[in-house]
Amino acid sequence: MSNSAETSYKLLDGKKLADEIKSEIAAEVKELTAGGRRQPHLAAILVGNDGGSLTYVGHKVKACEQVGFKSTLLHFTDTSITEEFLLNEVKKLNEDSEVDGFIVQLPLPKHMDADKVIMSIDPDKDVDGFHPVNVGKTTLGLSSFVSATPLGITKILERYNIETSGKHCVVIGRSNIVGRPISILMSNNARVGNATVTVCHSKTKNLKEITLQADIIIAALGKPEFLTGDMVKEGVVIVDVGTSRVDDATAKAGWRLKGDVKFAEVSLKASAITPVPGGVGPMTVVSLLLNTLKAYKA
Ligand code: NAP
Repeated sequence: MSNSAETSYKLLDGKKLADEIKSEIAAEVKELTAGGRRQPHLAAILVGNDGGSLTYVGHKVKACEQVGFKSTLLHFTDTSITEEFLLNEVKKLNEDSEVDGFIVQLPLPKHMDADKVIMSIDPDKDVDGFHPVNVGKTTLGLSSFVSATPLGITKILERYNIETSGKHCVVIGRSNIVGRPISILMSNNARVGNATVTVCHSKTKNLKEITLQADIIIAALGKPEFLTGDMVKEGVVIVDVGTSRVDDATAKAGWRLKGDVKFAEVSLKASAITPVPGGVGPMTVVSLLLNTLKAYKA
C-alpha cells in the first residue's frame, strides 16, 4: 500500500494484516476440527479490575471467538487472593489436557511475585512467551513461543517484504517484553533477522547520532512522539510500538493513543511506517493466536 502524491511511504497496516491472518487461522481451524477434533483452547487468568488489563483480555477473548478457538477467562476480581491460590490455578491449567495455552495477564497485585508466577507456567503452554525457557530458546534461535509483540513486529516486516538482512536496526527500549526480545530476533539468522542491531535505552548518550544511521528503527520506549523528523534519515523503516494515552478533550474518551514516533514528520522521510493505533497493537493479539495454534498442533 502506498499513499498520496506528496509522500511515498508504505503504510505498514497492522490492522489489515491482522484481519488477513485471522482469516487464515480461522480457515485452518475449520480444517483441523472438521474430523471432530476439539477446538484450540486459550485460557487467561486475570486478577483485579485494572481498566487496561480488562480491555486487553477482552480483545484476546474476542479474537479467539473470531477464529473459532475456545477461550476461558478465569477472572478473580478479589485482589486479595493469595499467591499460593494463584499458583494452584496455574498448576490446574498446566495439567488440563484440554487447554493448549494460557496467559497470566500482567500486572499482578503487588503482593504477588510475577516472576515466580510466570516461572510456574508449563513452557509448552506459555503462549505469551515470557517463561525463561522460551526466552532462552528464542535467543538461541530454536523453535519457541516468541512473545506476542515482538512476534507481531516480525510478521509485519515479513508480510510487507521489508528487507532486514544486513540493515542497521536501532531498537529504542530494552524491556523484557518488547525491546530486548525484538533486538535478539532482529540479529538472529532468520528471514526477518540478520540485521546489525543497536539497542538504545535511557542511559544512551548520543541517541540522535545513532538513530540517524538507522535503516530500521523500532521505537518501544513509551514516550509519546519522542522520535522526530530530524532524528531519522531518508528511506528509514519505522516500527512504532508505543501506545501512550494522551489527554485530548476532542476525543470521545477524553484521551487518544499516541505512538513513540511523531508520525506527521517522520512519515515524510520514511519508506515504510506503522501507524498508531492500527500498527503493532492488532498484530500483538494475532500473535497470541498464532502461538496458541502452534501449541495445539504440537
Ligand atoms: P518499559 O518497560 O517502560 O520500557 C521502556 C524502555 O524504554 C526502557 O528500556 C527504557 O530504558 C527506555 N527508555 C525510556 N526513556 C528513554 C529515552 N528517553 N531514550 C531511550 N530509551 C528510553 O516499556 P515497554 O513495556 O517496553 O513498552 C514500551 C511502549 O510500548 C509503551 O508505550 C507500551 O505501552 C507499548 N507497548 C505496546 C504494545 C502493543 O501491543 N502495541 C505491547 C507492549 C508495549 P531503561 O531500561 O534504561 O529504563
